[in-house]
Amino acid sequence: MKKIAIFPGSFDPFTKGHEDIVLRGLKLFDEIIIGIGYNSKKHRHFEIGNMIQHMEATFADYPNISILTYNELTAELAIKHQARYLLRGLRNTTDFEYENSISQVNRHINKDIETVFLITSPQFAAISSSIIREVHKYGGNVADFLPYKL
Ligand code: ADP
Repeated sequence: MKKIAIFPGSFDPFTKGHEDIVLRGLKLFDEIIIGIGYNSKKHRHFEIGNMIQHMEATFADYPNISILTYNELTAELAIKHQARYLLRGLRNTTDFEYENSISQVNRHINKDIETVFLITSPQFAAISSSIIREVHKYGGNVADFLPYKL
């Protein structure tokens, strides 16, 4: 049976830290689906269509990585795509507190889904989408943090 994982997130924007988790995840899974949680009523800083294009370009050489948007429970999305794993990244104890409860809830919703956590690579530990949004908002250069050119 193929090992399929969903990598869920907001990806506003998708960063080098996210890219690292996906590429390392490929050592564990046959296929990774990057699920962008998207609600058209919620404001994004980086427009969704552009972000999808950047992400598709980033992984153009990887036929086993796909990108989609969703607006439903992550566990439901996983069932739809025969994915038994959720992939998440951990940078620090704040991430851990949040991820701990979210993974318990996901397993409660579907006991066959396991969340797999990869610890951030140290060179990407300080990268966060929210800080990048803030820097970008005020005209700062964020190119070093992104795996594609804006
Ligand atoms: P969410 O809004 O669900 O937290 P994000 O897009 O911020 O989504 O992040 C998606 C996942 O990537 C989360 O598991 C988050 O902890 C992880 N992540 C974010 N930045 C990094 C990084 N620099 N290194 C490793 N993991 C990261």
